Amino acid sequence: MRDHSETKIKLENKSRVDTSFAHLENNVHGSPYRLRIEISNICNLRCTFAKDVFSNCSQWEINKTPVLMSFRFFKRIIDEVGIYLTASELYNYGEPFINPYAIDMIRYLKKINPGVIIEMHTNGHYFETESKRLDLVNSGLDVLSFSVDGITQEIYERYRVGGNLEIVTEAIRKICHLKKVMDIKNPKIKFQFVIFEHNLHQALNVKDFAKELGVDEVVIKTDFFNIKSEFKNSHRFIYENILSLQSKDSMDSFFKKDSEARHKFCDFPWVYPTILADGRVIICCRDRYYRSVVGIIKHNKTLSEIWNGDNYRDFRKKFLTNEQTPYPCCECGCRHK
Ligand code: SF4
Ligand code: SF4
Repeated sequence: MRDHSETKIKLENKSRVDTSFAHLENNVHGSPYRLRIEISNICNLRCTFAKDVFSNCSQWEINKTPVLMSFRFFKRIIDEVGIYLTASELYNYGEPFINPYAIDMIRYLKKINPGVIIEMHTNGHYFETESKRLDLVNSGLDVLSFSVDGITQEIYERYRVGGNLEIVTEAIRKICHLKKVMDIKNPKIKFQFVIFEHNLHQALNVKDFAKELGVDEVVIKTDFFNIKSEFKNSHRFIYENILSLQSKDSMDSFFKKDSEARHKFCDFPWVYPTILADGRVIICCRDRYYRSVVGIIKHNKTLSEIWNGDNYRDFRKKFLTNEQTPYPCCECGCRHK
């Protein structure tokens, strides 16, 4: 059963942070309550440009030193701020399950904060043995989303270069089966299909394909950040045809609520930092090029010091002005008043 004091600590912290956001203060009177941690910046795939694909993975666009976050470093972060988190994502750019400590990291965060919702995204190539699948379903992970943007190998590998659809679908099928046999709910298994022009024709068959594997949810979405306006009509066509296939919300947010969202400030700079595998802290996971570094967690520098350090406070200040909106927010529809 969840500890009452754990819930109280989290609620009090969240309330302080939300108040700082409501008053648009540069200094946040609490710890981030949502956190993304890039436990690996290495990937086995090479998702890449095709002429009709909107973007490629920054994994291969920027010159990065390959890093797997050590368990010791992860523990240090969680020991500092883990108790305050309501949600955490243990991935960013890179395949998280390449990190041999991925399962230990999930377990550790759950031990410190049993109520936190942990979500991970994977390309699905690291669950080839029964023992790995067992570790996964016993880890405490809440949500696992498989990125599968094609239902035939030919279409799948147009974007997921180097990927093997059969390996991925077998992993999904076996994990879902294991959950069923063990009669457990988590991790909730999502099948995520990002629509590009080259796979548009498969979008209407995705739900049947994924449901046959036993997944809990099918998520069909667009590459929101990089969508080309000329494809919006195609997407609207798809939207109108797939409403019955999945939760309406994700597409609604793009076509309808999106215009409302643009009239509010994004709260991420007050709530939700991203820690890269090498310890750098960036403003937001949408910074695909790691240009918004506000500090580096090192032996003598903690996340809390960075959180209200000069760089973060300066960023929040500029974020609120239309003239100086810093990257990545200047390219993101979420920021506007
Ligand atoms: S699987 Fe994910 S992290 Fe790996 S190259 Fe593709 S988009 Fe990037
Ligand atoms: S405005 Fe966009 S880029 Fe900036 S913090 Fe919010 S979600 Fe991230």
